[in-house]
Amino acid sequence: MSADDELGTGEAAPDLLTLHESIADLFATRGDWRRAYRHLRSALDIARAGSLRDPLTSSYNRRYLDQRLPELPAAVAVALVDLDRFKSVNDTYGHLLGDRVLCRVADLLQEGLPADAFCARYGGEEFALVLPGIDHRGAVRVADAARRRVARHPWSELRPGLRVTISVGLAHGTGSGPRQLHRADNLLYAAKRAGRNKVAFHDRETAQVITHSE
Ligand code: GH3
Ligand code: MG
Ligand code: MG
Repeated sequence: MSADDELGTGEAAPDLLTLHESIADLFATRGDWRRAYRHLRSALDIARAGSLRDPLTSSYNRRYLDQRLPELPAAVAVALVDLDRFKSVNDTYGHLLGDRVLCRVADLLQEGLPADAFCARYGGEEFALVLPGIDHRGAVRVADAARRRVARHPWSELRPGLRVTISVGLAHGTGSGPRQLHRADNLLYAAKRAGRNKVAFHDRETAQVITHSE
């Protein structure tokens, strides 16, 4: 969550980036360039890290995904996740609640990931899970566990009657990261067509699309 902390005085607390900038200014006016430079470097590092995060969910963003995907090893699995019927969540409960649901889904997706995997908000109500160095069965297990974690979350504690599920297209095998993302997108449509709350992937032996669900 972005920090909107308030000081006791009612003034907004300065964020770390602004603090480093101000200190750099102070040192610069004294002609202490070495210290000014050090604080500007810190400010730049914070700004760069922030530019790779989604401000709503704090997960990585599309820019991060686009940077990382092409440099990943060929054996990467990519799962594209889309919230089911999310428009009706907004329509029924309002956009603020919709935003909270997105944040919670991002947390739930992040929870069960292997150490070198990451989750990035692809856009809107879509997230990409990137799983390097994982075998096919492992990728299916991780993607389906994410689907179950979302489906079984006690959403009605947030609003009575609220239910949230995700559909997942999972691509794995040879091919670059961007190519896997493209394949995952096609598989996501298969998961939607199969009725939602499902993971769709290509079966290794038959090359058929399998949809996995409870
Ligand atoms: P489907 O199961 O086919 O994916 O149905 P859907 O309703 O999820 O799909 P659709 O593309 O019709 O609607 C996506 C909705 O996601 C519409 C849009 O307002 C909402 N959305 C996208 N980004 C945000 C966001 O940041 N916050 C909120 N509250 N809603 C968002
Ligand atoms: Mg969508
Ligand atoms: Mg959707």
